[in-house]
Amino acid sequence: MKAAVVRDNCDGYVDIKDVQLRDLKYGEALVKMEYCGLCHTDLHVAAGDFGKVPGRIIGHEGVGKVTKIADGVTSLKIGDRVSIAWFYKGCGHCEYCTTGRETLCRNVENSGFNVDGAMAEECIVPADYAVKVPEGLDPIEATSLTCAGVTVYKGLKTGDLKPGQWVEVVGTGGLGNLAVQYAHNVFGAHVAAVDIDDAKLAATKELGADLTINSRNEDASQLLQDKVGGVHSAIITAVSPDSFTTAVNALRPDGTLVAIALPKGDMGLNISKTVLDGIKVAGSLVGTRQDLAETFQFGAEHRVKPIVHTRKLSEINDIIDEMKNNQIVGRMVIDFTH
Ligand code: NAD
Ligand code: ZN
Ligand code: ZN
Repeated sequence: MKAAVVRDNCDGYVDIKDVQLRDLKYGEALVKMEYCGLCHTDLHVAAGDFGKVPGRIIGHEGVGKVTKIADGVTSLKIGDRVSIAWFYKGCGHCEYCTTGRETLCRNVENSGFNVDGAMAEECIVPADYAVKVPEGLDPIEATSLTCAGVTVYKGLKTGDLKPGQWVEVVGTGGLGNLAVQYAHNVFGAHVAAVDIDDAKLAATKELGADLTINSRNEDASQLLQDKVGGVHSAIITAVSPDSFTTAVNALRPDGTLVAIALPKGDMGLNISKTVLDGIKVAGSLVGTRQDLAETFQFGAEHRVKPIVHTRKLSEINDIIDEMKNNQIVGRMVIDFTH
């Protein structure tokens, strides 16, 4: 079967190769992929940003149908539509796995990073960890919710966003446009969307952003302090360390900065501002199986609508370049059905 694998030199691109998957083990299912979105995290993996994994099949926004189950599988049956998310499997018995924080398990397996992922015609999943895609949710749209959607939904929870509050969404790409939608349509919050690209900002305006700010031309933090008295939380999905540092200044007292993007490097934190304003900073990593089920349900109820465009697997390195150059509005999704 065809799969997109990290190159031996980890240069940030992938090769399309013929790969033979191993046999299923106890508790596993085989999924025939229908669609898989390309997340910016796949670019980090292909470039070795989290450690080099040459030969690894990338992909963690996968949606497909179960074609085979091994012994011990009770939660899935052949024909079920499931997702393959970054959170592939936890140990199931540690402090994090048993207290609703399973993505932080120290023995976690992540699709498309330390186990083979979903950017392939087929993928093996541990059945109990593959969250089902509900009826009524378009499978192409479901791909975007599998990583981008659940990550921002969980991130907004991490920022403790309440109805009527202001949230700043920094970076309105694959994750950010969904953050605008979940914040506005699900959490009932006011949203300020910040990006360096006007096309993406225009799209977020239609999705419910109350304010759109191009941070190339304007000081977003100053503007938000002047206009709304600062935001209650800021969720950072821009792949730029500077955007973390500047977003702290957009917060109102007792505000929370939710760190989501994964650029290399450090963020600055002004000590006086942090202490005197009681600022909180929290990292937020994808979401649990339950978070994903909730994320999907809002999609099935049409409360959010991912912006998705289907492409061919052979175009994947072009898509990587488009993403690096910040040219993608929404998500590019590889179609494995043709
Ligand atoms: P994307 O490329 O689709 O979107 C990034 C957006 O940031 C683009 O719209 C771009 O125009 C904008 N941007 C770039 N520089 C900016 C700046 N200085 N100020 C404002 N906006 C700027 O990427 P994505 O798929 O949305 O992923 C974003 C980041 O989130 C990546 O680093 C990815 O690895 C990370 N991520 C983290 C998690 C997690 O669990 N924490 C999950 C998924 C993705
Ligand atoms: Zn664990
Ligand atoms: Zn992702």
